[in-house]
Amino acid sequence: MSELLKITDFSVNYKIGKKQLSAIKNVDLTVNEGEITAVVGESGCGKSTLAYSIVQLLDKRKSSVSGSILYQGKELVGLKAKEMVKIRGKEIGFIFQNPLDSLNPVIKSGNQVVEAICLDGIDRKTAFEKTQTLYERVKMSDPLHQMSQYPHELSGGMRQRVMISMMVSREPKLLIADEPTTALDVTIEAEILQLLSELKEKNNTSVLLITHNLGVVSKIADKVAVMYAGQIVEFGKTEDVLKNPSHPYTQMLLKAIPKGTKHDVKLESIPGTVPRFYDTNQGCRFYNRCPMAQKKCEAFAPEKVKIDNIHYCYCHLLGGEHVEGTTD
Ligand code: SF4
Repeated sequence: MSELLKITDFSVNYKIGKKQLSAIKNVDLTVNEGEITAVVGESGCGKSTLAYSIVQLLDKRKSSVSGSILYQGKELVGLKAKEMVKIRGKEIGFIFQNPLDSLNPVIKSGNQVVEAICLDGIDRKTAFEKTQTLYERVKMSDPLHQMSQYPHELSGGMRQRVMISMMVSREPKLLIADEPTTALDVTIEAEILQLLSELKEKNNTSVLLITHNLGVVSKIADKVAVMYAGQIVEFGKTEDVLKNPSHPYTQMLLKAIPKGTKHDVKLESIPGTVPRFYDTNQGCRFYNRCPMAQKKCEAFAPEKVKIDNIHYCYCHLLGGEHVEGTTD
């Protein structure tokens, strides 16, 4: 499969007074055509910062970026705003966690999708018909009626379908979905995940799925990158990472998934919270929460180790072949 998005040695710092808060550090990640790649981790791990950076949605006055993000061979880091406008929406769509924050409250939902379609020079009548087809495709129960409703008149699941319709309407090659089901109940979540899978199957759309939920990852992602404190600590095919989690953080995340309905089973958790790291910090970022930490972990950052095939991990505990370069 060919590479659609290739992120190499990418870092983001936020300016906090005189210090540089390291939100993303030396991230390598590749998204192939027609694949769903998930980025998973706790809140505060830098997942959304990574997603926003790809389409330049970070405040440039408060952040600085370095490294490379190639989209179909075109460098996005440092791309001029007027060039990025041509890519954002048309080439790379973005679904936000809460569609109510993204939709205009005083414009009917259908008109918002029509306007997005008209950006490509399509007349309003054709755009209206296309919107109706899109609403049917995302399984709106009564498309014409829901097109005439304002966002506050729609349920959370329907609003997310409007957002997906809007993003899909321009047929982007890459869809970035930032926690698209977090605000939804499990039934609607399953339907939205099904929609994303259909987009991949029918349109060959690639999806970069940002989530804190390993259950969601196991349902639809082809590959998964586990992120902790701004760094990818493990990457591989979803089945490989879930069957053979190699980084202590991945193992603890999996243990923390509630299992069954037994009330006498203690729910596992990862003690502490994700700390802030500044540019001067060395060593493994999971050090202060890792039950297997050794002395050298505090002083030296672990190198990339190949586990199997395209399964990689960063941890001093692992022997094996050290590798350079980006994840496949
Ligand atoms: Fe734990 Fe050390 Fe591995 Fe980091 S490098 S995850 S601190 S064992």
